[in-house]
Amino acid sequence: MANVELRQVTKSYDDRQSLAVKPLTFEIQDKEFLVIVGPSGCGKSTTLRMIAGLESITDGGLFIDNNLVNYVETKDRDIAMVFQNYALYPYMTIEENIAFPLKMQKVPRKFIKQRVQKVAEILQLSDLLKRKPDALSGGQRQRVALGRAMVRQPKVFLFDEPLSNLDAKLRVEMRAEIVKLHQQLDTTFIYVTHDQTEAMTMGDRIAVLNKGALEQLDSPIQLYENP
Ligand code: ADP
Ligand code: ADP
Repeated sequence: MANVELRQVTKSYDDRQSLAVKPLTFEIQDKEFLVIVGPSGCGKSTTLRMIAGLESITDGGLFIDNNLVNYVETKDRDIAMVFQNYALYPYMTIEENIAFPLKMQKVPRKFIKQRVQKVAEILQLSDLLKRKPDALSGGQRQRVALGRAMVRQPKVFLFDEPLSNLDAKLRVEMRAEIVKLHQQLDTTFIYVTHDQTEAMTMGDRIAVLNKGALEQLDSPIQLYENP
């Protein structure tokens, strides 16, 4: 189970008066695919980073499974994050890149190998495990980034514009792959994008942010009918 709840969460950078995120209250249900969409600068990334624990929360409460996590470190939040620049380690093989989070946790070698093979299978990376990231295409690299996020089996996946660096055709393919992955993993996805089509085609529900405030939160069909 993994539900995420924001209660009156705000963010101001550098103690400035202006709020990058105004009091934000909403809940992401267990196993939901929630997309946060809005124009550049509206606070999407800040919101996601607060959920991840990569940015402090100025005010309000952030709850994961009803536990207040404002002061819980990223590594103890049971989340994984996927970024737009894949942030792979260039000198490691694909296998080592995917295995890295488990290695950090001192998981036994044999288990790591099995788990990496399983993840590679799901993401169709099995034949690429011995390569280095620079020998892969953009789409393959993004799959490795997904693999590295999946390998620990976190409760919540956070995506920050993960497809922005891909060309249009690949972007459409990867959308479908991520939706499929959500179904397979059966867990909570929170996905940030500025791309409305991406939001409408991927999300179970869509949170529309504008100037740091929540404008709408609805299913694609309801948003389509009441834009
Ligand atoms: P989005 O992800 O929707 O593009 P951001 O969350 O990155 O929006 O930014 C929201 C607002 O906060 C913007 O006005 C941005 O300039 C500001 N901001 C973001 N990061 C920082 C930072 N590290 N320091 C100061 N201001 C920031
Ligand atoms: P995004 O829209 O994906 O958040 P940005 O280009 O807005 O990307 O931000 C890239 C980085 O710069 C982020 O780490 C963000 O926190 C930081 N940043 C954004 N706006 C500001 C700002 N006004 N002052 C300082 N840092 C900022």
